[in-house]
Amino acid sequence: MNSFALADCSTVESALAQLKDGAMVKAGGVDLLDRMKNGTDAPKRLVNIRNIRELRGIHAAPDGLTIGPLTTLAEVAEDPSVRADYAVLADACGAAATPHIRNMATIGGNLLQELQCWYFRSADFECIRKGKEVCFAFSGLNQYHAIMDYGTCPSVAPSSSAVAVLALGGSVELTSAAKGKRTVAIQDFYVKPDANPHRFHVMAPDELLTAIHIPKPAAGTRSAYQKYGEKESHDWAIADAGIVLEMDGNVCRRAVVAMGAASPVVRRSKEAEAELAGKPITQATARAAGKASMTGAMPLSMNAYKVQLFPVAIYRTILLAAGQMDRDPSATAVAL
Ligand SMILES: Cc1cc2nc3c(=O)[nH]c(=O)nc-3n(C[C@H](O)[C@H](O)[C@H](O)COP(=O)(O)OP(=O)(O)OC[C@H]3O[C@@H](n4cnc5c(N)ncnc54)[C@H](O)[C@@H]3O)c2cc1C
Repeated sequence: MNSFALADCSTVESALAQLKDGAMVKAGGVDLLDRMKNGTDAPKRLVNIRNIRELRGIHAAPDGLTIGPLTTLAEVAEDPSVRADYAVLADACGAAATPHIRNMATIGGNLLQELQCWYFRSADFECIRKGKEVCFAFSGLNQYHAIMDYGTCPSVAPSSSAVAVLALGGSVELTSAAKGKRTVAIQDFYVKPDANPHRFHVMAPDELLTAIHIPKPAAGTRSAYQKYGEKESHDWAIADAGIVLEMDGNVCRRAVVAMGAASPVVRRSKEAEAELAGKPITQATARAAGKASMTGAMPLSMNAYKVQLFPVAIYRTILLAAGQMDRDPSATAVAL
C-alpha cells in the first residue's frame, strides 16, 4: 500500500473542500482499502467522511425515504420503516457480505464499490477498464461474469443495494463545491462499458454522494430481494433479483424485475415484467417471468449455468414478494 495523507472531516463543506488533486473519499473503507492493498488505487490523500453526522440516518416521510449515505447496511436492513414498506431494500442490505462487514460498510459505499472482476482487481492485469484495449475475461476465467449487455467488458454489477434502489425507482443526490446539488435517477447513474469503459458511474471526482431518495411505493406494493452465491455469506452474488409488485388483490398492476450479477450495470428485465403485468401472481406467471428474463442472454465459455440460475432466482423472488414462498429459498422444493 502507498503512503497517503488522511483528511478527517466532520462536515460536508470541509470534505468537499478536500476533494481535489486526486483525493479519494473513504466511508467504511471496506472496498477502498481493499483496492489500495491490491495496488489498483493509490490516492495521495484520503478524505475520511465516516464522522460526518449529517450524512447518516434514515428519514421516512409520506412521499418516501431519504437515506444518508453513511448509514450502514446493517442499519438499513434492520430499520422498521424500511422493512415495512421497502422490503426489497432491507433484504438486499441484509444479504450483502457478512454481519461484520454490514456493520462497517455504508450504503453509499455499497452503491459506489467498484467491479469485482478478478482481472480488474489485480494490479498484474492492465485491462480495458484501466485504459488498455484488452479484456482478459472473454478468453480467460469468466465463470462469475456477465451473461447479457456486456459489450466490451463482461464484469458484473456488484452492488446488492443498487438492485433494490433500481427496483424501487430511487435516485442519488450528488453535491460538489463548484456546482452544488444535482439528483440522478439510479438507472442513469451507472455507465455501461460500451458507453465508456473507464467510468463506472457519472459522479465527478469533486462530488460527494450526499443522499439516496426512494419514492414511497404505491398502496398494495409488495417486494423482495434474493441473492444466490457459491456461499451463503462472505461472497458476492452470482445471481440476484429485486422484485417490486404493485398488487390489486392477487392481480399484479405493475411489476419491476431488477437484476444485478447478470450484466455490468444493474438492469431491469422488461420482458419479465411484461409476463407479470395485469396477471395474477402464480407459480406459472412467476415461472414465465423467470424464463423471459433470459431474453438476449449470451453466456460466456464458463457461465452458462447462470442462464439456468437467474430464472430460478427470479421465480423464487417473485413468489417471495407475493407472500407465496418462505423467506428461505432452500426451504421450498421448486420444479422449473
Ligand atoms: C467478503 C465480502 C463480501 C461482500 N459481499 C457483498 C455482497 O454480497 N453484496 C454487495 O453489495 N457487496 C458486497 N461486498 C462489498 C461491500 O458491501 C462493500 O465493499 C461496502 O459496502 C463498501 O462500503 P464502504 O462504506 O466500506 O465503502 P468505501 O470502501 O469507503 O468506499 C467505496 C467507494 O465509494 C466511494 N465513496 C464511498 N462513499 C462515498 C460518498 N458518500 N461520496 C462519494 N464517494 C464515496 C469511495 O471513494 C470508494 O471508491 C462484499 C465485500 C466483502 C469484503
